[in-house]
Amino acid sequence: MKLTTFNGSRLGIVENQEIVDITDSVGIPAGAGGPLLALIEAGTTVEELTAMDFSTAPRIPLAEAQIGAPLPRPHKVVGAPVNYVDHQIEMSEQKTIGDYGVFLKAPSSVTGQGGSIDLPYLDKRTDQEGELGVVIGKRARRVSVEGALDYVFGYMPVLDITVRSTEDRSTRKSFRTFTPTGPYVVTADEAGDPDDLELKCWVGGELRQQVNTRELIFSIAEVIAYASHVMDLEPGDIIASGTPAGVGPLTDGDEVVVEIEKLGRLSLTVSTANAIRYEDRPGQHSTTDAAH
Ligand code: MN
Repeated sequence: MKLTTFNGSRLGIVENQEIVDITDSVGIPAGAGGPLLALIEAGTTVEELTAMDFSTAPRIPLAEAQIGAPLPRPHKVVGAPVNYVDHQIEMSEQKTIGDYGVFLKAPSSVTGQGGSIDLPYLDKRTDQEGELGVVIGKRARRVSVEGALDYVFGYMPVLDITVRSTEDRSTRKSFRTFTPTGPYVVTADEAGDPDDLELKCWVGGELRQQVNTRELIFSIAEVIAYASHVMDLEPGDIIASGTPAGVGPLTDGDEVVVEIEKLGRLSLTVSTANAIRYEDRPGQHSTTDAAH
């Protein structure tokens, strides 16, 4: 089952080039986090959804729907650094999650299909990172690797957009529009083994990244177990599981596409309309400034 948020805060199932509008059938008020977050927080299982009768629910052509981020405002977005060997080599890294731990991205960085990726700076390299996104289905606290996938609601393509500057990861990765997601969440039953999915990412028509998730250093279950050992993972939380080799700079007008087997194709366009010079950012008190 493919679930998404569309036309503002409508909840839909994507089927055969149509969206079934199940907002009224489900009858759960959307809340600030959107209708899918409300559905997951209500404890609704995929089995329950599958058993519901949506035969009289309205259907609209997919092409006429305004698809938004499936989970426009999750409680948190957890990121996994350096989680593919080829990217580890590319970044001259010796360390992995075992050394760095996981990081947080601001929930306000989440955006969806067809939007823009707004570069904050005109003169600081900002890269795409195509990643498998995990959506948590129920609270996970110090779960075992063996049981970790039981806490997954579903999966979706994610981009972890990153400024290559000196600040902490949470700063470099939290700008508005820096976590594109979607176009829909594919439930765990339909996605199958998360550690065996082909991922591809294009920028401006150039294939930059291609990997199978079996190449992950920390498997999806291991990332969940690790993160849940640090923090409670809440329903609707998103985990960006790490990027393979092939990250590279974005420029104004680039189309960025990430496609994952069984999960669909997420596409956005890069914009510098709101970008400023790096030296014009607020506050200049760097300890590396000679005049400090
Ligand atoms: Mn990343």
